[in-house]
Amino acid sequence: MSRIAYVNGQYVPHQHACVHIEDRGYQFADGVYEVVPIVGGKLIDEKGHLDRLWRSMNELKMDAPMKRRPMQLVMAEVIRRNGIENGLIYMQVTRGVAPRDHPFPKNAQPALVMTAKRLSMEKAAQKAEKGVTVITVPDIRWQRCDIKSVSLLPNILAKQEAVEKGAYEAFQFDGEGNITEGSSTNAWIIDQDGTLITRPTSNSILAGITRAALIELLKEKGIKLELRSFTVDELRNAREVFLTSSSSYVQPVVQVDDKVIGNGKPGSVSLELRTIFKDYMDR
Ligand code: PMP
Repeated sequence: MSRIAYVNGQYVPHQHACVHIEDRGYQFADGVYEVVPIVGGKLIDEKGHLDRLWRSMNELKMDAPMKRRPMQLVMAEVIRRNGIENGLIYMQVTRGVAPRDHPFPKNAQPALVMTAKRLSMEKAAQKAEKGVTVITVPDIRWQRCDIKSVSLLPNILAKQEAVEKGAYEAFQFDGEGNITEGSSTNAWIIDQDGTLITRPTSNSILAGITRAALIELLKEKGIKLELRSFTVDELRNAREVFLTSSSSYVQPVVQVDDKVIGNGKPGSVSLELRTIFKDYMDR
């Protein structure tokens, strides 16, 4: 099945999908985005993702390209036309096309693009069974990391460094030596006493939808969570480490920089939480 993209009101073959050279997303990274998982043909936490998209637009005083209901219909149609059973839908809103000038344009129409891609649940499961490695890097991002902006250069530099070092992800640390989050994931640890810890939401991190869903599941199961910052040292000396995101779900981490976590295999609690999250997605 050939891939189909949605671009400003039209469904077009993926290889011919394009936007204007003066789209403000292209020129200024003046845009926001969402990535929503699709599992068994259904969107996971669609409401949470749309709430966050609207919040990102509001924070940047950006008009919505359409109301929520029609946007949901476009999402469903993109999934249908691409025949996706398991994968992701990517949606991006920019402030639109206007002659290049920094202030907000007066009459630009916000632009909406959506694409969808397949993901293999088998490959994801294999990665979880093996665990992944992460590196730590200074967080050089701006002070509004709560907005899911397409301005991702620092995240890209962090991820590239991870790739060059053979790692899967880069966890960033702030000026106080506390971990903020991964370049595209939220970071969690279980300390030597067995306490589950993740950083509270603020302008320093993206409020992950996977993170929020997992926190709800922990409450349901009566599993205690400490919402606090943790240091690079605590990360390196943790009993278990894992990360969460819409594309990785709950992914165990088995090495941080040169430090092996536990016995170098995914921790039992991380794997249990992954199963709990998988069951939630299959509900
Ligand atoms: N932090 C950052 C910087 C991200 O880009 C992402 C991925 N969207 C996450 C955290 C995880 O968020 P979510 O669970 O909503 O995918």
